[in-house]
Amino acid sequence: MNAISDVLIIGGGVVGLAIAIELKLRGATVSILSRDFHAAASHAAAGMLAPQAEAIPPGPMLDLCLRSRALYPDWTRKLEELTGLATGYWPCGILAPAYTQVEPDHCEDNGEWVKEWLDRDAINLYQPGLGSEVSGGWWYPEDAQVDNRALALALWTSAQSLGVDIRDGITVEAIQQQQRQVVGVQTSCGVFRAKHYVLTAGAWSNELLPVPVRPKKGQMLSVRVPEGNYGEYPDRLPPLARVLFAPDIYIVPRRNGLIVIGATSEEVGFTPHNTPTGIQSLLGRAIRLYPQLQHYPIQEFWWGFRPATPDELPILGSSPCKNLTLATGHYRNGILLAPVTAILIADLISEQKSDPLLLHFNYSRFYQVRSQKYTPPPLFLPSRQMQINPTLEQSLDRPLTIAGRTFQSRLMTGTGKYRTLEEMQQSITQSGCQIITVAVRRVQSKAPGHEGLAEALDWTKLWMLPNTAGCQTAQEAIRVARLGREMAKLLGQEDNNFVKLEVIPDPKYLLPDPIGTLEAAEQLVKEGFAVLPYINADPILARRLEDVGCATVMPLASPIGSGQGLKNAANIQIIIENAGVPVVVDAGIGTPSEAAQAMELGADALLINSAIAGAKNPAAMARAMSLATEAGRLAYLAGRIPVKNYATASSPLSGTITS
Ligand SMILES: Cc1cc2nc3c(=O)[nH]c(=O)nc-3n(C[C@H](O)[C@H](O)[C@H](O)COP(=O)(O)OP(=O)(O)OC[C@H]3O[C@@H](n4cnc5c(N)ncnc54)[C@H](O)[C@@H]3O)c2cc1C
Repeated sequence: MNAISDVLIIGGGVVGLAIAIELKLRGATVSILSRDFHAAASHAAAGMLAPQAEAIPPGPMLDLCLRSRALYPDWTRKLEELTGLATGYWPCGILAPAYTQVEPDHCEDNGEWVKEWLDRDAINLYQPGLGSEVSGGWWYPEDAQVDNRALALALWTSAQSLGVDIRDGITVEAIQQQQRQVVGVQTSCGVFRAKHYVLTAGAWSNELLPVPVRPKKGQMLSVRVPEGNYGEYPDRLPPLARVLFAPDIYIVPRRNGLIVIGATSEEVGFTPHNTPTGIQSLLGRAIRLYPQLQHYPIQEFWWGFRPATPDELPILGSSPCKNLTLATGHYRNGILLAPVTAILIADLISEQKSDPLLLHFNYSRFYQVRSQKYTPPPLFLPSRQMQINPTLEQSLDRPLTIAGRTFQSRLMTGTGKYRTLEEMQQSITQSGCQIITVAVRRVQSKAPGHEGLAEALDWTKLWMLPNTAGCQTAQEAIRVARLGREMAKLLGQEDNNFVKLEVIPDPKYLLPDPIGTLEAAEQLVKEGFAVLPYINADPILARRLEDVGCATVMPLASPIGSGQGLKNAANIQIIIENAGVPVVVDAGIGTPSEAAQAMELGADALLINSAIAGAKNPAAMARAMSLATEAGRLAYLAGRIPVKNYATASSPLSGTITS
């Protein structure tokens, strides 16, 4: 067991380090677990402190940025005194050259002088050597820069010298929660515990918690001003003394002669490396802006991942867990925002003081968190006007029970492939479903068709079955299952531990990997999940999964989305005969008659998505599937007549009244 600290911070970029130092200075014991100090966006950044040049509109974000920029001189001075290391803070102002004529209408914001328009002559006086196409530009005298790598090192050294327990090279694999309380973090080196936790894992945050943070890649490079003389260059000029911030390119000169050039902005996930196109575009734009650069020796190429959120604002403050605070999603301004983030988060944790600004940055803006708990709907849903006397079904049947939880509907459906959210909502209502499976990865990444999906359904009435669609290995599926559990919690289903386990390495037939599924199921059961594994109709595998503690087995009728119907009826029959857990027939059902057929075999439930979502009228098909599921179930309970070789008259001939 690792020592228990007051606060454990996940992530050692500038945000995590700045918070750690602030808390430590207020007397807390603090530890930081960080996977890789050098992979942090904090190392990849340009270090501009540029709320005005970035043209952040008036509002809470601009207020936050301006507060932080104002903290910089003192904050960096203290760090420098503590460590003897320079941070490269430089209030050099920022020039924003333009290629088109701009009519400068006003130069003041809120009565403060924040920017000045410079015409072609004036801007060339401020910075000689600009490209001939530059027609003028804005001057932002209050904006500044810091050498972000020097800053990160100074923060790291300060934290160490103050006694923060920093562990680099440790990956946090999962945040363990119980009853809205974090009880520990599972890591590559065992479990760590603390009284309070802070998530500052930058672009990787949503690997641990379902916050909508995604990576936005930026490629960068640096050149160096040639030492000594410039004699060999005919157009010798004084070196750059200000940050140049033009459309699609910025050039950041450091005091030590290095010049940082950036940055691309790419939606490519965590794809690493620099690309010829990326670097070519940066060089082309940089030389257009400041032609002399073409002679300077290149020093380095690198890339990094900005932690982006849907509204491009950070996520700061409380979380669904009482003892977990969030400080992530700083996107393009994390270096700028580090000092103010540290103060606001430390106030919140150590003094329970919540600055009014934090309200604007709470995670809950992305979720309609419902305070009510999930309550199962009544036995027969009002939307279904069943002609069958309810008591007949009740007297014959018991409700479907999975992992101790009972459900009246035996039809489950999904949320994928619908043309519109409205179609999905109507279909789910008509299906009478109580269990809805949701692809965690697609909701997390807000893949097309999945935007707003989690919020579109009433999770007080529907039970979420997070699924691991898109996972090709057991490890991926385990990670996504953990995220799914957090997603359900965020939507108000605190005790939802269900996961539909899909491990599918084969993209053509989408057939599940039996070995990977078993491996992942074993681990997830150990972690307390109710596992509903999606499998090929293999009776031996079904047995093994039941033995390791799965809550159901979900054999496929035929390949996902194929609509081929019950191709595996014989094997499914064997699974049903031998199963001690509910058997849910999943995938491949195309018509209500096939749904009824599967239920007549004795399946406990069905999961049908494509056949409903892809129908011309999905809501009508949803209702048809619902009726068929019930009809099939009732028929199974009623007991069918035996199949005979010869006809038997409907009206018996014996015992009749004869003349
Ligand atoms: C190309 C580029 C240019 C930029 N330019 C600027 C700029 O000029 N000005 C500005 O203000 N901002 C800029 N930014 C944005 C800024 O860099 C980020 O907003 C800021 O660094 C975020 O800091 P952070 O500490 O939250 O995340 P990071 O610096 O990314 O740190 C996150 C840390 O968490 C660790 N971690 C992740 N997952 C785990 C896990 N599971 N377990 C343990 N540790 C984990 C990582 O290894 C990393 O060390 C730029 C970013 C990029 C990419």
